[in-house]
Amino acid sequence: MIDPFGRTIDYLRVSVTDRCDLRCVYCMAEDMTFLPKADVLSLEELDRLCSAFVRQGVRKLRLTGGEPLVRRNIMSLFRSLGRHITAGDLDELTLTTNGTQLGKYAEELYAAGVRRVNVSLDTLDPAKFTAITRWGNLDKVIENIAIARAAGLEIKINAVALKGVNEHELGDMVAWCGENDYDMTIIEVMPMGDIGNEDRVDQYLPLSMVRQQLGQRFTLTDSDHKTGGPARYVRIEETGRRLGFITPLTHNFCESCNRVRVTCTGTLYMCLGQEDAADLRAPLRASESDEPLNAAILEAIGRKPKGHDFIIDRRHSNVAVPRHMSVTGG
Ligand code: SAM
Ligand code: SF4
Repeated sequence: MIDPFGRTIDYLRVSVTDRCDLRCVYCMAEDMTFLPKADVLSLEELDRLCSAFVRQGVRKLRLTGGEPLVRRNIMSLFRSLGRHITAGDLDELTLTTNGTQLGKYAEELYAAGVRRVNVSLDTLDPAKFTAITRWGNLDKVIENIAIARAAGLEIKINAVALKGVNEHELGDMVAWCGENDYDMTIIEVMPMGDIGNEDRVDQYLPLSMVRQQLGQRFTLTDSDHKTGGPARYVRIEETGRRLGFITPLTHNFCESCNRVRVTCTGTLYMCLGQEDAADLRAPLRASESDEPLNAAILEAIGRKPKGHDFIIDRRHSNVAVPRHMSVTGG
């Protein structure tokens, strides 16, 4: 699949549920309204949808959410998608998770063909963790991450940089990741979805500042490492681990975008930061043949936009796109 700007699209992220067992302050309001279950694709439909993308050239598949591991029987979807890895049609099957259920599923994930997991963790301070996630228990998540590592899964910690919350702790997290053999990526907060009383201008911390601060404690060497994602990497010489920076605001990375995203209702978003979308549920349900679905996918790729234009400042509203990250899948 090649888009109008010559970019090869070979990475699909699928939000398998919009529900979550946490309520991170930058992601959701505490009293979120979730989709009616009838609107959500069944696991069999999600398998058919993902498999159609694999046949059209997707080489990397990431299941996300909401929290993917809270969806009932989600392991059956991982197992079934694992067949594409075995067949050599897919290079990577992976997930992004908050880690609350990871210990329970680590071995099954490995058996299904998953080798790397992104775990979202913004702080190592138990009180701050509960303040950020509203409902989370840090010790449990840290224990689950260690179980996953012991099961053979490579771990990447994703931390959202939050002004005045974890900004002075990110160095300690880099050191902790080094001690435990985890990679780490730091992400700028993005203006997606209403988050109740929270204000994103108060949350937003440009990563240029984070990098400068980390540079005072560690030796950062630029690296040309690529994972097929938007992160720019450095090597931390003191720990020997990689550190990625995802900077949608301070440095727009759209020129190398290789991905599209599907929601759990089968809506395909060609860009995280734009509204244009294609309904894949109707063609999926219209026929047992995949022909209408394949045609709808190709038509949508043909109108993938050039990029997003996220801005967070006092003059702009908090929300560049009304849908939450948990809908499109972060
Ligand atoms: N529940 C899973 C988790 O937290 O890893 C998967 C879904 S979550 C929406 C995926 C990622 O998006 C997480 O790393 C989270 O920190 C990030 N995220 C959510 N809202 C965001 C926002 N407004 N700006 C930047 N990152 C955000
Ligand atoms: Fe849930 Fe992930 Fe959003 Fe936190 S970031 S509320 S864990 S979906």
